Amino acid sequence: MLEPGRRVEVPFGTRKLIGVITGSSSSSDFPENKIKKISKVIDNDTLLDEKLLSLYRWSADYYQHPIGQALQTSLPKQLRRGLPAAVSIETTWQLSKSARNLDPESLKSAPRQQQVVELLSKIGALTSAQIKEALEFAPGSCLSSLMEKGLVVKGEQSTLQLRFDKKKGVELYGKDRPLTLNTEQQQAFDAISSLANGYSTTLLEGVTGSGKTEIYLQLIAGALKAGSQVLVLVPEISLTPQTIRRFQDRFNRYVVAFHSGLNDTQRLTAWLDARDGTADIIIGTRSAVFTPMDRPGLIIVDEEHDSSYKQQDGFRYSGRDLAIYRGRLLNIPVILGTATPSLESLNNALTGRYHYQALTERAGEASHPAFRILDLKGMTVTNGLSEALVDSIRTHLENSNQVLVFLNRRGFAPILLCRECGWIAACPRCDSSYTLHRTPASLSCHHCESVKPAITACQECGSSELGTMGIGTEKTEQALGQLFPGTPVYRIDRDSTRKKDSLQHILAKVYSGKPCILVGTQILSKGHHFPGVTLVVILDADGGLFSGNFRGQEHMGQLITQVAGRAGRGKDIGEVAIQTYNSSHPTLQALVNDGYGPFARELLKERKMGNLPPYSFMALAKAEAATRALPENFLNAVREKLAGKVNGLQLIGPLPSPMEKRGGLFRFQLLLEAEKRSVLQLGLHHLMTAMEKHESNRKIRWAVDVDPVDFT
Ligand code: ADP
Ligand code: ZN
Ligand code: ZN
Repeated sequence: MLEPGRRVEVPFGTRKLIGVITGSSSSSDFPENKIKKISKVIDNDTLLDEKLLSLYRWSADYYQHPIGQALQTSLPKQLRRGLPAAVSIETTWQLSKSARNLDPESLKSAPRQQQVVELLSKIGALTSAQIKEALEFAPGSCLSSLMEKGLVVKGEQSTLQLRFDKKKGVELYGKDRPLTLNTEQQQAFDAISSLANGYSTTLLEGVTGSGKTEIYLQLIAGALKAGSQVLVLVPEISLTPQTIRRFQDRFNRYVVAFHSGLNDTQRLTAWLDARDGTADIIIGTRSAVFTPMDRPGLIIVDEEHDSSYKQQDGFRYSGRDLAIYRGRLLNIPVILGTATPSLESLNNALTGRYHYQALTERAGEASHPAFRILDLKGMTVTNGLSEALVDSIRTHLENSNQVLVFLNRRGFAPILLCRECGWIAACPRCDSSYTLHRTPASLSCHHCESVKPAITACQECGSSELGTMGIGTEKTEQALGQLFPGTPVYRIDRDSTRKKDSLQHILAKVYSGKPCILVGTQILSKGHHFPGVTLVVILDADGGLFSGNFRGQEHMGQLITQVAGRAGRGKDIGEVAIQTYNSSHPTLQALVNDGYGPFARELLKERKMGNLPPYSFMALAKAEAATRALPENFLNAVREKLAGKVNGLQLIGPLPSPMEKRGGLFRFQLLLEAEKRSVLQLGLHHLMTAMEKHESNRKIRWAVDVDPVDFT
């Protein structure tokens, strides 16, 4: 019998598919003649160990998703395709024997060649891509010249890790040394270190810039000294070269990062190196929670509140929640760090299910930014900028500082309309207007991603009197450019950073420290330190105050606090200006006057009164189809099947989704809610049966979202 965790090839209709053995049985309910034979065993040895399979089994069950698809979403592509689980060979370059006695001065006339020789003499063997990464130029011609001179030779090595193995075991720290912790950091560090043996989850609530990352680094040092591997999960937009470098600069150890720049081969290599215990530190976004490890010792989830931990389609798992479950399976500590805890984690900490540590002061020289609410009522506002705000920006720029302007809407304007007849350019496939973009000129739907050329006349009455309503980052960029002609304005959003490295280029200019204005969406809110920024502007705080989603205010508080946290990280005190038409709104007041911590505890009370998560558990059954009747009838039928089956299960709906039509499909949802997790899980079991059995379900796309974050 084949043990679980190996890949096999199986016949499936006329095709052959790759599968992973998850279990075996000596009997079956299926008629014997219908059971097919495995056509080929791919792995000679288990690919996934029992603990990892348990994680997959548990998550498939919890999120009501087929385990096969759960594996599909997280295994490296080459493994899914049935290719061998072996690292591939790469060409490397190293110094020849004669080069070892070379006088470095002899290459003085060829400085690039000299740099290559110096690098190789320090590190050993490198691929040309690694040389390029280290020296920031393509070394092709240098390498050919050096080879002609007999100074370098070609070799072959098998992993991404080769630059580290020479030093391994010699010295733990790299070029960055640990900092001396302040009192609060030391306290948190000691408390968490004392939990190093066995499972525990600790919420580390530390204001932005309080030195959480420094604590992670020192805890990681402890785990590495104990011979363990460490898994670090970060939000999607935090997985930047700066983040990765911070770990690489601190430790003389092999760090693998699952970032989007890896090709399939590198991804497989990183995965195998983690599995085999070759890699010491593994950094990645939510799917990295499924990375196999040979000697796991610590899991860190940075910015645990970030909504990118929840996958929004297909296998709708939470990377953070699975990290906690995995810590329990592996019997190792889990650390959740953030300045703005999710209400779920905060509640778990307050009720004692998690350990809790707080950092209330900024580390180093930085101090807390001061908040200022700019009430827009009665003010002159041009292009979304009030006069008071423009004055403030001017003052900060005149003091040679930088300004960050946050607006969570990309494009030029969210609405293009006809001034004569009132027609609005709307996406025919969605309940949404087109957003006007200027660079390049186009109309784009931000919900189905459809794009069409910009128009110059109304499509209803033919008038050329077209105008815009609302503001996006492009318009803000333009307006600020006109107001401050001598100051560079850099826009950072999904459009301006689409090209590879463009974000890095902009950031490099900002880090130069010269006065400038940064305009951007939430890409700006995480992971970056802008020491030169002394003024942060929240252009529009009102969206979050009146959101239909019960998490709206929580998310607004997190976003404002995170963006505000970019200010004043250097020596100069930061200021945060918030524009709103609702300056007396109690939620906004609480946030600004008391800070996120007390604000979040207040929101928890409201959740409790409303019996909302984390005081109840939710799942959303979603259905969509080409006509309105299909998904509504489908969910009604499902609801009837469920009614009365499970005590304590509440059913709300079916109701049209907040965006009823998207991508040409009509969408409905049915909400399941229960005070006990077990009641919800039982309800989900009946729900899945009802949905799978429904006769028209092939015309309908349906899905279940357990612990939903997005209700659109
Ligand atoms: P967080 O992760 O909480 O945002 P970081 O760990 O990135 O905070 O620290 C913020 C800044 O403070 C960094 O520049 C870091 O080098 C510095 N810092 C952190 N801890 C200390 C310390 N104990 N002494 C001096 N500087 C520190
Ligand atoms: Zn018109
Ligand atoms: Zn659309």
